[in-house]
Amino acid sequence: MSAIDLSIFDLFKIGPGPSSSHTIGPMRAAYDFIQAARALPAATLSSVSGVQVHLFGSLSATGKGHGTVRAVLAGLLGRSPESCSPEFLDELGSDPLVERPLDLGAVRLNINADTVVFDAIEHDYPCNNTMIIRLTGPDGAAAPVFEREYASPGGGFIQFKGQPIVPRGVPTYPYENMLGLKRQLKENGLHLHRLILENEMAVTGAGELEIMDGLDTILRVMDEAVNAGLAAEGVLPGPIGLHRKANHLFERSEIKRQTHENIIGQMCAFAFAAAEENAAGHIIVTAPTCGSAGIIPAIAKIMRTRLGLSEQSVREGLLAAAAVGFLAKHNATIAGAEGGCQAEIGVASAMAAAMLSHATGYDADVTENAAETALEQHLGMTCDPVGGYVQIPCIERNAMSVVKAYTAFIIATDVLPARYKVGLDQAIETMMATGKDMNCKYKETAQGGLAAIVANC
Ligand code: SF4
Repeated sequence: MSAIDLSIFDLFKIGPGPSSSHTIGPMRAAYDFIQAARALPAATLSSVSGVQVHLFGSLSATGKGHGTVRAVLAGLLGRSPESCSPEFLDELGSDPLVERPLDLGAVRLNINADTVVFDAIEHDYPCNNTMIIRLTGPDGAAAPVFEREYASPGGGFIQFKGQPIVPRGVPTYPYENMLGLKRQLKENGLHLHRLILENEMAVTGAGELEIMDGLDTILRVMDEAVNAGLAAEGVLPGPIGLHRKANHLFERSEIKRQTHENIIGQMCAFAFAAAEENAAGHIIVTAPTCGSAGIIPAIAKIMRTRLGLSEQSVREGLLAAAAVGFLAKHNATIAGAEGGCQAEIGVASAMAAAMLSHATGYDADVTENAAETALEQHLGMTCDPVGGYVQIPCIERNAMSVVKAYTAFIIATDVLPARYKVGLDQAIETMMATGKDMNCKYKETAQGGLAAIVANC
């Protein structure tokens, strides 16, 4: 197996919710396609009659509830997730059938919601979340003028078929699993955050200051999502009519300031706040996905406001969280469409547990144990968003799983590390095997579980 050469900014991406695989990935794919199409020769473009986007697998099954159409249209219209305003997305979503001009230079097309086709849920493409984008020929001729097959496997990652692999730098301290990571830490006498930082510099070529600036931006946007969610009230978009709860939960936790419920209530309120912002299609950070975007921001806010940790400790904790996310992404998956919710919420909870352990000064053994316990307690968790909307059970699940992360941290820091019988590598391997065994109904298709039982709300 190859050494992990992921970047922190592969994992933590800024963009609109509610789903990294169904919103950020498709928007990036559509944006990428249009950039490539614009580079085609004018003679080729002059024969183009239209553009079509076909969604397969879980993109087709739950794309409607996840806002995939407006995300694709925004990407085609030249908006990237980092630059697209939620207002523009809302405008696209409120008037989906209005035709909008798409200028490719030699040809001018019109696009609207009908440009996006919900195709087969069952298919033979290698990635469950597959999109095919094509420029059609004169009079809709059978052979497309230009076509790309994109995979959107989660976390906002995309790849098109035949895409050349852009070589990255070689990590200074190569590892492929937790065992190898701990070996590197021990042999080189490094703290976990330092190793991740050194590898980030080697892999991306960025300097330390630039990386730290990037981390600060990520943490700022996470905190803004929590604050925006705490300030907002009303009903989330979509037919469920789900009321936001973060504001109320936070007020109740303040009333209970002197009780044991207070810190738990605040953690839940913070997780609800960012998860509700995600459900509203507002700007969040994938951590590691949109659906799980409330957990790490909530733990970061608790670290600052209740544990009195410095901003530097929070940054270092985020680097430890990234290490766990890398291990899960490299050796298993972080996509609900591939591994069920254990791969999204479970991995986020493990990342948050590691963040807390590392930031509070515990060593790599304790950090591993905290992450392992958190992940282990999510094994088998299915993905069954009601109506295909990232609301039920997703929002409450963020709150429950930030509490699980905190509990895992308490257990790991109070129990002798040597008494742990399961390692993080084993938990990740188990998650992958369980995800493979999981029926497709439970992998972001909204065809099983709560989505099947609570069909009419
Ligand atoms: S159930 Fe979990 S994996 Fe599925 S959409 Fe919700 S948060 Fe994501």
